[in-house]
Amino acid sequence: MSADIIDGKAFAAALRARIAAQTEVFRAAAGRAPGLAVVLVGDDPASAVYVRNKGKATMAAGMAGFEHRLPVDCVQAELLALIDRLNVDPAVDGILVQMPLPRQIDADAVILAIDPAKDVDGFHPDNVGRLAIGMPGFVPCTPQGCLMLLRDRLGDLSGLDAVVIGRSAIVGKPVAQLLTATNCTVTLAHSRTRDLASIVRRADIVVAAVGQPQMVKGAWIKPGATVIDVGINRTEAGIVGDVDFGGAAAVAAAITPVPGGVGPMTIACLLRNTLIAAHIRIGLHIAEGAL
Ligand code: NAD
Repeated sequence: MSADIIDGKAFAAALRARIAAQTEVFRAAAGRAPGLAVVLVGDDPASAVYVRNKGKATMAAGMAGFEHRLPVDCVQAELLALIDRLNVDPAVDGILVQMPLPRQIDADAVILAIDPAKDVDGFHPDNVGRLAIGMPGFVPCTPQGCLMLLRDRLGDLSGLDAVVIGRSAIVGKPVAQLLTATNCTVTLAHSRTRDLASIVRRADIVVAAVGQPQMVKGAWIKPGATVIDVGINRTEAGIVGDVDFGGAAAVAAAITPVPGGVGPMTIACLLRNTLIAAHIRIGLHIAEGAL
C-alpha cells in the first residue's frame, strides 16, 4: 500500500472541537445554545443508532438537542404538525427528519414542510436550488464533508479532473455541484454510464457514492489520484466501502478508509450547519476561518 490514509475521524474530531468553541461564543452572545431537533419516525434500528449518535454529538458540542419520536404507524398530518411546531420554536435552529420514512408518509411533503432557514440537512428545494446556482444556503452534510476532506488534502482544486460515481440527490449530485463550484472539471457517472473504468482512470479525484461493496476497482484508479469513498455497505466481512480499498490504496496518493473516512464528517457537518443556522437566525456572524 502506498496511499496516505485520509483520517476523517481525526478531521471530524478537530472540526467538532472548533464548532464547540464557536458554540460557546454563540451562547455568550445569544444567551442560549444553538438547538437541533431530530425527528425519528418508527423504530428502524439503524435509524435509531444514527439519531442517538446525532444526539450525543449535539450535547458534546454544547448545543441543545431535542429528540422527537413518532410511532411507525403515525399519519403524515401528525408529522407535518410537529414540523410546523418546530419551525416556529425559537429554541430550534435546525430540524432533521431521519430518513427513510414509513411508506404511508410522503418524504417530499415532509422535506417541503421544513423551514428552509432550519433545513440543516440541505434537502429542501430552496437550498438545493441555492447550491445549484451558487447562492449561499445549507449544503447537505455528507457532500460538505467530502469537500472539506478534499480541500484539506489538496488545497486548491482548480482544474482537477473529478469523477463522481452516483447521482443521488443527497450525495452524488451535490458533490458534483460543490466540485464544479471549486473549479474542478466534473464527470457525474451513474448506473447507465458506459465504460466506467476508463472514465475513472482519467480522474485526479474519485468520489464513490454508489452503495455497492467494492465495485470501484484498484486497476481503474489513476496513479496519484485522491479517492473519497462514501459507501457504507454491510457485508459478512463487516462494513466496507464502494471502493476496493486494498487495490485502490496501492495506486492512489490518498484514500479515505471505511469506516473512519467520510462517515464521521457527516455528523460534524450537521453540527456545523446548525451553528450557522443559529447565527443567521439572530443576525450574528461566525468569524472568518473559525470553522
Ligand atoms: P443511492 O442508492 O440513492 O444512489 C446510488 C447511485 O449510484 C445512483 O445514482 C446510481 O445511478 C449509481 N449507481 C448504481 N449502480 C451503479 C453502477 N454499477 N455504476 C455506476 N453508478 C451506479 O445511494 P446514496 O444515498 O447516494 O448512497 C450511496 C452510498 O453512500 C451508500 O453506500 C450509502 O450507504 C452511503 N452513504 C454514506 C453516507 C455517510 O455518511 N458516509 C451518507 C449517505 C450515504
